[in-house]
Parts: sequence; structure tokens; C-alpha cells
Amino acid sequence: MSIASNIQEINKTIPSESKLIAVSKFQSTERILQAYQAGLRRFGENRAQEMCSKHEALPADIEWHFFGHLQRNKIKYIIPFTSLIQSVDSPALLTEINKAAAKIGRVVPCLLQIYIAREESKFGFTPEELRLFFSEGSWKNLSNVRLQGLMGMATFTGNTEQVRQEFRLLKLLFDEIRSTYFSENESFRELSMGMTGDYKIAIQEGSTMLRIGTALFGSRKTEQ
Ligand SMILES: *Cc1c(COP(=O)(O)O)cnc(C)c1O
Repeated sequence: MSIASNIQEINKTIPSESKLIAVSKFQSTERILQAYQAGLRRFGENRAQEMCSKHEALPADIEWHFFGHLQRNKIKYIIPFTSLIQSVDSPALLTEINKAAAKIGRVVPCLLQIYIAREESKFGFTPEELRLFFSEGSWKNLSNVRLQGLMGMATFTGNTEQVRQEFRLLKLLFDEIRSTYFSENESFRELSMGMTGDYKIAIQEGSTMLRIGTALFGSRKTEQ
């Protein structure tokens, strides 16, 4: 199947208000251009250098989302152009992003990554750490980042009930934080959850942003 027909198939299964992020990590600029020509404008990467070189090579109206583990020394390369950093996994990283964004006079939209999976390898705030982070309050002084919501990855498993429970937990946490701290601020509105294997469940559980790679581009030649 061509990328264009994959896009058509996916669009049939997602609500029009869901934001589709085409996960283009390890895909060539030619293949990304095919998706662009078929109408997609939001792409996502998980390695800073790869995202920078693709940003330079590809049309300027692409929105670049980042969702990898972001090392401090790489922040400055992506903040001039990134539309959304989805993988802020610690208060320290958020502070660093704020500092780098202030230097260039930008306000960078961010999502906090929440650890919901029962897997050792994934990053993110635990629900307790997230509550502590918000109640402690110093995030309010970070004027060069804009907190727009939460992101999470479910456990990689065929157990759909477990995946659903993890998404449900994330949605509850999102609603709690939004109603407690952002009742008068509409910027906190994105819940990024759902990948190729689980995005239909994620939609049912309240996702606003889907990060889909394999179903769009086919399987990746190289894995992380
Ligand atoms: C690779 C990746 C995806 C997309 O995975 P697919 O299964 O190919 O859709 C989504 N989110 C993150 C954080 C990723 O690293």
C-alpha cells in the first residue's frame, strides 16, 4: 500500500478533531515528502539530530514534534523550530528547556511525559511525581515554556485490557491536573496517547493526539 492510501485508511478510523502526528523516525526525506504531498503537516521524531536535518531538508510549513529522550546538550538544536516537545520527563529538563528558550526569545510548547507502562525502559513522571511537581508551584515561573498537556506510552502488549487501563489512568490524571491548575487556561488541552498498535483504544479513552508511524509508512528498516 502507498503512503497516500495508508493515510486515507487511517483517516477513516480517527475522529476529525484528533491530531495525527506522522512518526517519521528512520524514514527518508523522500518518504516524508510523499506523506507531505498527501496532505500531512505534522511529523514527529525521537532523535534531535535527525529532526534537525529533516527540518532543514523539508518544507518550512511542517510542524516538528519531538518525543525522544532529550539530552540537555541537544536542547538548543531543536528549540528554534520545534512545535511541541512531547517528552519532557523531569522538572530539571523543563527548566533547561525554559532557559534555552529564553535565550532565543521563544515560548516552547511542551507536554509532560507520564510513566504509565509496566516496563522498565520507559521514561516519565510517575503520577505521584506529577502531582508533586504541580503542587510545588515553581513551574509557574517558567515563562518560556507553555505546558499544553500530557503524553504517555502504554505497555507494549497484546493485552488490550491492560493497555486500556493504562490510557484510562492517564486520562484521569490529565483531567485532574487540568481542572486543578488550568481551569482558566485553555492551553492545557492535549492528551497524546496512541501508536499504531493501540491508537483505536487511545481514541476511545480520550486521546487528542495520535503518534502513528508503522501504519503510515510501513515497518521501519532500522529500529532504535
Ligand atoms: C516510534 C514511536 C511511535 C510510533 O510507533 P508506531 O508503532 O510505529 O506507530 C509513537 N510514539 C513514540 C514515543 C515513538 O517513539
